[in-house]
Amino acid sequence: MFNKVLIANRGEIALRVLRACKELGISTVAVHSTADAEAMHVRLADQSVCIGPPASRDSYLNVHEIIAACEITGADAIHPGYGFLSENAKFAQILEAHDITFIGPSYQHIMTMGDKIEAKQTAKRLGIPVVPGSDGAVTEDDDAKRIASDIGYPVIIKAASGGGGRGMRVVWKESEMGVALQTTRSEAGAAFGDDAVYIEKYLAKPRHIEVQVLGDGKNVGIHLGERDCSLQRRHQKVFEEANSPALNEEQRDRIGMVCANAIGEMGYSGAGTIEFLYEDGEFYFIEMNTRLQVEHPVTEMITSIDLVNEQLRVASGAGLSVGQQDIAFTGHAIECRINAEHPSTFVPSPGKITYYHPPGGLGVRVDSGVFQGYSVPPYYDSLIGKLIVHGRNRVECLMRLRRALDEFVVDGIDTTIPLFRDLLDNQDVQMGDYDIHWLEKFLDEKS
Ligand code: ADP
Repeated sequence: MFNKVLIANRGEIALRVLRACKELGISTVAVHSTADAEAMHVRLADQSVCIGPPASRDSYLNVHEIIAACEITGADAIHPGYGFLSENAKFAQILEAHDITFIGPSYQHIMTMGDKIEAKQTAKRLGIPVVPGSDGAVTEDDDAKRIASDIGYPVIIKAASGGGGRGMRVVWKESEMGVALQTTRSEAGAAFGDDAVYIEKYLAKPRHIEVQVLGDGKNVGIHLGERDCSLQRRHQKVFEEANSPALNEEQRDRIGMVCANAIGEMGYSGAGTIEFLYEDGEFYFIEMNTRLQVEHPVTEMITSIDLVNEQLRVASGAGLSVGQQDIAFTGHAIECRINAEHPSTFVPSPGKITYYHPPGGLGVRVDSGVFQGYSVPPYYDSLIGKLIVHGRNRVECLMRLRRALDEFVVDGIDTTIPLFRDLLDNQDVQMGDYDIHWLEKFLDEKS
């Protein structure tokens, strides 16, 4: 196992990784921007190194400073968390050249899955069902029109290098295609430095269902079931649960095994998520994330498997601690993403937390780096914590979640906690009856 791990991230995920390291007896190094000098991940780490000014590109994305911090502190490995450098193949490759272990898959796998066109082709080759669409990149209006009329409108144009719900445009009819194609290409070029776009069928009422996988880097892949992340705003997840209320055991096993086999065949190393849209009983691959995800705790709650521990084990050469036969699902878990934002306008609300009281009790987990007196800086993502609740079944989980939300007090800034209280009053949410458009409609009706 590693002696010392550097955590190249901030906020709740830096703490999450730090906890797993501590439980394995690994020393930790926190890196931080000047804005995060007082942050909890810095306070709890064995060592810390300031790597630059507040702007992410000068600190959390500053590869040279991060490698220097690693060398100064003698860390063996870097855990990238999610976001920032976690899916940067070049970063993983540079670490390899410096003899520092990247806690994640090989840079080749990151590269393949980072290009959504290549990812889709790879998935198809591995027997994973994909959304019908263009075979590769589309540049010409005429090609786009031909492909769209073959699959049938509406279609969605997506940037090959897109992420975070950006770089997508729905096209409803042929007369809109020319402008839509060229606009999406130029936006993609400006936002991602890659103007390649592809076309796929726009599914009208799908759910977003994703499968958590682990690979040993050789030939074994396992799955830890699915998460349902259909409640989204602007293609960003807000509320996630496991298992999905829409799947039965047979469907879960079937899609899970398709994913596990693909991961084994790829020789994939560590944790990953294969994302699908699910409609009318069919799964359609949309992308694979080659990292830990924000919503990973719901899987941990129903499997009792520490995903970061498994990542550390695989990266260090110790191998997975479990096989497919050891994975069992117990009860139901839900996660609410608590953002420092107004609960209905979603305007970011940085500032000082004057009073903080997190909920507790059986089956309640709060992953957060904030505390009373902490100032949420304005420079980063507005996620300040996650409330994750487990119950023996979905009803118990919902009741416990309501209780936990009622206990949760964060004063001084706006948070999205009241939104979740409203959601739990809704019958569709109570019944688990929603698709990826449900939340936006709910929010429109409310305003
Ligand atoms: P990103 O990498 O930006 O997260 P994804 O490909 O994972 O992009 O898509 C994000 C979300 O966009 C999905 O969860 C879904 O809500 C919507 N979406 C993507 N592709 C389609 C599609 N073919 N049909 C309908 N909605 C889609």
